[in-house]
Amino acid sequence: MTTTSSAAPDIVLRPGTSASSADRRREALAGAAFGEVFTDHMVTARWTATDGWHDAALEPFAPLELSPAAVGLHYGQSVFEGFKAYHRTPERAAIFRPSAHARRFADSARRMALPEVPVDLFVGAAEALVRQDKDWIPDGDDRSLYLRPVLFASEAHLALRPARACLFVLLAFPTGNFFDAGDRAVTVAVADEYVRAAPGGTGAAKCGGNYASTYLAQETAARKGADQVVWLDAVERRWVEELGGMNLFFVYGTGDQTTLTTPPLTGTILPGVTRDTLLTLAGGLGLQVTEAPITVSRWREECAAGRITEVFACGTAARITSVGRVLSADGPWTVGDGRPGPVAGRLSAALAAVHRGEAADSYGWCHL
Ligand code: PMP
Repeated sequence: MTTTSSAAPDIVLRPGTSASSADRRREALAGAAFGEVFTDHMVTARWTATDGWHDAALEPFAPLELSPAAVGLHYGQSVFEGFKAYHRTPERAAIFRPSAHARRFADSARRMALPEVPVDLFVGAAEALVRQDKDWIPDGDDRSLYLRPVLFASEAHLALRPARACLFVLLAFPTGNFFDAGDRAVTVAVADEYVRAAPGGTGAAKCGGNYASTYLAQETAARKGADQVVWLDAVERRWVEELGGMNLFFVYGTGDQTTLTTPPLTGTILPGVTRDTLLTLAGGLGLQVTEAPITVSRWREECAAGRITEVFACGTAARITSVGRVLSADGPWTVGDGRPGPVAGRLSAALAAVHRGEAADSYGWCHL
């Protein structure tokens, strides 16, 4: 039966009759790369300009039926999110800040002239999928179930106007460490040739095109031995913005005098949920926090002078990852002693404790 509504429709549950074996779930985690093996189910919902959101259902994970003329394939009218569910006790899981991700998803959708997915539908879809595929949530400190919603224009028409039919899909997959870095700090390369986001552009939206357009720079950086690209502002080409999939934090000083700084949200940076979480958590650990712009040359000078003691990247997938070395057109430099730093370690532990339910959830971030 078709249900139509301009608000959040109920999600109909039509699970499959068989589930993956425990062995297959373990293999998926041990052998698969990030986002390669998916859980048994997915949630889909449809939107049309005439009927709003309708036909929300949880069903077995399966290929989609799509017209080759679907707008999303041609013109990139598509946005996505990434958030996680963590194991707590064997019976309980927590989804971390789903409403914050729902709000950013809606902001991204608005920027790309897509319909906003109601927060209730977004969070309800995550709850339904996590409940159904709970056996896929892996145990272990650095493991979780990654939730990937995507919303794209599915209408079959090739005129240059926003689509009047869209599809929302929520997938999930088990994940461990995003970087193959183990305990080492990563190397980043400053993008001197390419630009990620310009004022008035889509930098603050999580749209597919923002990622496709950075692959070439990422490949160039990888050939130089870097793990990630550092993106600079598009106008003066000297202000540090973020990495390709993470926000950046700079640590000044040590001990009681430690200050944490991250570039402000100028509209060209993705407003990371982890960034926001750490700005709050750090204050609680007695660290000073500020949002302040920094240039590449200042980054290098402050490292040389020993005033910047650590730099780390943060994001849902990569969690907290120290940056040990920076490659730039003017030559490389090392941050601190080039190894993961203690402030990143403290914040990582504090964040993991909230995820796992070992610390009080003072801010109501964990959705159970
Ligand atoms: N910047 C970019 C460009 C990203 O893709 C991500 C990952 N979503 C982040 C920052 C970090 O955001 P979050 O902490 O919400 O995962």
